[in-house]
Amino acid sequence: MSDAETLFEKIIAREIPAEIVYETDTTLAFRDIQPQARVHVLVVPKKRYRNLAEFAAADPAGLADVVATAAKVAELEGISASGYRVVFNTDADAGQTVFHVHAHVLGGEQLGHFGR
Ligand code: IMP
Repeated sequence: MSDAETLFEKIIAREIPAEIVYETDTTLAFRDIQPQARVHVLVVPKKRYRNLAEFAAADPAGLADVVATAAKVAELEGISASGYRVVFNTDADAGQTVFHVHAHVLGGEQLGHFGR
């Protein structure tokens, strides 16, 4: 893992502002600053892992917490019944830009399909 702090550590530490929608002991959920859908919330573990592979290997219970928080966010945002997507962009081909693992929760409208 690179040692460089990411802006998500600063959001977790409340050093920079974010619109927080839900929090647990181990996770934080806040709105994406450049939403790609009507609902676009990021869910992060408070402990930093670089990406999904590192997170899944080191802390499967923490990963379960993030996924459970994503489902809770969908419920709170009122999109559980209509449907939503949970995405972990992982490294270069997926366009990961922030290297503190995060789940994107997307919904509130009909989403495009996977691919290019
Ligand atoms: P990635 O491309 O999967 O790494 O996703 C990073 C996400 O973080 C992008 O969707 C950005 O719009 C989002 N983002 C970047 N800076 C901020 C911020 O300060 N607050 C909330 N979301 C941010």
